Amino acid sequence: MLAEIKGINEECGVFAIWGHEKAAEMTYYGLHALQHRGQEGAGIVTTDGDKLNVHKGVGLINDVFSEGEVSRLKGHAAIGHVRYATQGGGGYENVQPLVFRSQKNSMALSHNGNLVNAHALKNQLEAQGSILQTTSDTEVIAHLVKRSGNVPMEEAITSALGMIKGAYAFSILTEDQLFIGLDPRGLRPLSIGRLGDAYVVASETCAFDLIGATYEREVKPGELIVIDEDGFRTKQFTSPLQRTLCSMEYVYFSRPDSDLNELNVHASRKTMGKQLAEESPVEADVVTGVPDSSISAAIGFSEATGIPYELGLIKNRYVGRTFIQPSQELREQGVKMKLSAVRGIVDGKRVVMVDDSIVRGTTSRRIVRLLKEAGATEVHVRIASPPIQNPCYYGIDTSTKSELIASNNSIEDMKEIIGADTLAFLTPDGLKKSIVSDRDTQEHGICRACFTGNYPTEIYPDTEIPAYKD
Ligand code: 5GP
Ligand code: SF4
Ligand code: MG
Repeated sequence: MLAEIKGINEECGVFAIWGHEKAAEMTYYGLHALQHRGQEGAGIVTTDGDKLNVHKGVGLINDVFSEGEVSRLKGHAAIGHVRYATQGGGGYENVQPLVFRSQKNSMALSHNGNLVNAHALKNQLEAQGSILQTTSDTEVIAHLVKRSGNVPMEEAITSALGMIKGAYAFSILTEDQLFIGLDPRGLRPLSIGRLGDAYVVASETCAFDLIGATYEREVKPGELIVIDEDGFRTKQFTSPLQRTLCSMEYVYFSRPDSDLNELNVHASRKTMGKQLAEESPVEADVVTGVPDSSISAAIGFSEATGIPYELGLIKNRYVGRTFIQPSQELREQGVKMKLSAVRGIVDGKRVVMVDDSIVRGTTSRRIVRLLKEAGATEVHVRIASPPIQNPCYYGIDTSTKSELIASNNSIEDMKEIIGADTLAFLTPDGLKKSIVSDRDTQEHGICRACFTGNYPTEIYPDTEIPAYKD
């Protein structure tokens, strides 16, 4: 994916397992499948029944963990996390799982998403004497849980869930219990699987495939699951609402081999490409996708139009890890380093260049130039999602409104800026059709707020927009 190129934030990945003698090892493998969701930090916490064992650090999973470190994490249950900061920035103190020790019992917490009332809750907690140790919104959840006093963990968590608002898929591990929960709208993805007798939970099903686990079902919006030595229990902590799963997960974030809400991501992207071709066809000689995240949509576009799909762009795989790039100028250089146009394919041709999304327009502008320099006579840019005009408050950094090219320019102006011969986007309805089609039910709704401005939750005046990394 191109996330490395731009330094724009992806979100996080969570993984949990209960009842496996190699819990840490399975988590380590599971996190590898989720690495695309965050490269800034990684961590695993296990319980051996007596105490929590922790190892985490800044960087990729392979930078953080050596074999010895994984095998030192003893226990039958574990939670893990890969992080790309949306709230609170980077640094070790924000790497998850966050661990809170106390004399009676400790807890570890990992979270994917963003609380829309974190700011208000932080003020409230600090006014009441809490000392926040991190700048992340995740810590707020832990403080609210701990403040419930001497009540069973399940009760404490339920009461904390009554106070937080926004998007959250979380796991909490104590010495003897694992808790899994999802926000009332199910904004973030979270699935449950089985590995023999063990329970596994992951942001994406590709983590199950990697460790040989079988998918069971989605965690339901507003569901709290408790797993302990008495087994598996579940309850709804809110009455069911219409699910609004993030459509950007299908468009860009998730891996094509994952199923989200029982729809394969690659298949959904192909449908987006087909739908885009129906909405905005064009005469051309070849269709090419921007590797890797746009290949599926480009194939769909090609199938629908009959224009052959070709490998017009190649990703240079062995370029070093240059993903933290502070300036626009460097980002542009990054794109140049990471992608090449294939002259033999595009020279003298009218090219349809399919990309999954436009955020700032940097990538598209750069690639149009690459294709033209390689001899393309026309470049028709087709974007397999609608223009992103609004910020996301739910844990995905589409950055602030002022940075979004589509929020400040007409499509015609954007076409000029990126230097394309024509430019068209998928419509919001086309996107919806591609994902929910005939299953637009209470369980299968999607969020499209960054495209439509129609947010599925309250947004508070002081809701923090996830901070852009540079
Ligand atoms: P732009 O260059 O327009 O700012 O970003 C869009 C391009 O970056 C697309 O090619 C997309 O695949 C990629 N990309 C990288 N990170 C993100 C992200 O966080 N959100 C979205 N929508 N696209 C991203
Ligand atoms: Fe996803 Fe956009 Fe909704 Fe954010 S606003 S949850 S990126 S669809
Ligand atoms: Mg993010």
